[in-house]
Amino acid sequence: MTARVIDGKAVAAGVRERVAAEVAELAPRLGREPGLATVLTGDDPASQVYVRNKRQACEEAGMRSIHHDLPADVAEERVLAVVDELNADQRVDGILVQLPLPDGIDQDAVVDRIDAAKDVDGLTAASAGRLAQGRPGLVPCTPAGVMELLREAGPPIEGAEAVIVGRSILVGRPLSALLLNANASVTVCHSRTRDLAATCRRADVLVAAVGSPRLVEGGWVKPGATVIDVGINRTDDGLVGDVDFDVAREVAGAITPVPGGVGPMTIAMLLSNTLAAARARAA
Ligand code: NAD
Repeated sequence: MTARVIDGKAVAAGVRERVAAEVAELAPRLGREPGLATVLTGDDPASQVYVRNKRQACEEAGMRSIHHDLPADVAEERVLAVVDELNADQRVDGILVQLPLPDGIDQDAVVDRIDAAKDVDGLTAASAGRLAQGRPGLVPCTPAGVMELLREAGPPIEGAEAVIVGRSILVGRPLSALLLNANASVTVCHSRTRDLAATCRRADVLVAAVGSPRLVEGGWVKPGATVIDVGINRTDDGLVGDVDFDVAREVAGAITPVPGGVGPMTIAMLLSNTLAAARARAA
């Protein structure tokens, strides 16, 4: 069996089109464009590219981008003051503080200062708590994108055995809550998991979010499973995921490629979250 390759670019383009159409409907009711604020600290080139892409996508969707650039030696108090200002700004629906923050700044304190109603990255303790309790709220973008891809892949999530490799706050943990809320039976694996291969082999839905090139071998995939590869690893062979794609695709029912799978979904879901935040604030 050769797996269907899930086209993340196409799914992301569909989400972005839907968001743009809904923004065009909502803006006249709001009397303004929905607004996404980005806060960038320091001069890390990767963070600069990520923020530039997010701002551009935001404008392409018809939303307003508000941006704060802060120097690498900025004091924590100043970052907190910028977040307070954005929390109070009625034109701002979503706030994204690009991580990591410079050394010496308490990342948790800055993230938790964001008003939960504007937490479009879904990373505050308040948003994480809501998600863990199965209550409505804003959900981290990458795991939200994984759920969109799973819906697109087809087989029902309800009742499925789902295995996630990786337990980060950004991906593995929120995804475990999303899958549980969608009525999957969820196992979360990590660096101390005893028999990773055997656990993965049980999965109807297998998600790899580790950051280790081709860690998940083709032989770990249950025939017909849906495999979602969140990993992005730069190697001498170029960009590869956490799954050995060439072997796994011969076993799986559906699989995401790297690049072109989960990657494009993250920004699409950020736009979707900003729209949802604007709508909820207008209600
Ligand atoms: P992280 O480093 O915060 O977490 C990695 C997790 O993998 C940890 O929970 C750790 O316990 C687990 N792990 C490490 N080695 C392991 C092993 N040998 N066996 C089993 N588990 C192991 O990483 P993250 O932020 O969750 O990112 C994971 C990957 O996803 C990275 O490659 C990152 O670049 C990528 N990523 C992609 C997107 C996207 O938009 N596509 C977004 C976020 C992260």
